Amino acid sequence: MPVTKPTEIMLHEANVEVPKETIAELVRKMIVLLGEDPNREGLRKTPERFEKALRFLTSGYNQNLESVLNGATFSVHYDEMVVVKDIEFFSLCEHHLLPFFGKAHVAYLPSKKVLGLSKIARLVNMFARRLQIQERMTSQIADAISEKISPEGVGVIIEARHLCMQMRGVEKQHGQAVTSAMLGSFRHNKQTRDEFLSLVRAQKS
Ligand code: ZN
Repeated sequence: MPVTKPTEIMLHEANVEVPKETIAELVRKMIVLLGEDPNREGLRKTPERFEKALRFLTSGYNQNLESVLNGATFSVHYDEMVVVKDIEFFSLCEHHLLPFFGKAHVAYLPSKKVLGLSKIARLVNMFARRLQIQERMTSQIADAISEKISPEGVGVIIEARHLCMQMRGVEKQHGQAVTSAMLGSFRHNKQTRDEFLSLVRAQKS
């Protein structure tokens, strides 16, 4: 499989030199450092498999708003709330490189323009498939929609489980973390916000 390079822009901004080794080579070293034998049958192809998986899980770095939305913004006379609930996502926490995953609920009140419905899930995936923290991912989704179609308001709620919390035996009591970003009328108008919240809750019963 051809290896995709992370966005050059990001590396350029950060002024980081790219290591000569491949991720697979580094993973092989890691396996040795963990005290395992990288040549035993079950582990022999693990470095390449891991690299391939990680490249997929971080493929959001190779996308941007334009490539994901691909012109799918439409002018319409529709001014009711658009809600897309239960968008499943899988991300990697940037503090531990362990998965966090759950559901995103996204809504907006259009002002002249709407997004293709399927594009909202793609947008969520683009931001999820990067090294993330849940809070940033939540506002990035809201900001992106705000930027692209300038709606009256945007609301994003994310509910997620973090394996870095659950697997390491700390803070197990926090089964689920919930974050939200409310912009425009979702922030200022209680009625709009309540409508969104009740629509999100409605699907759970
Ligand atoms: Zn973490």
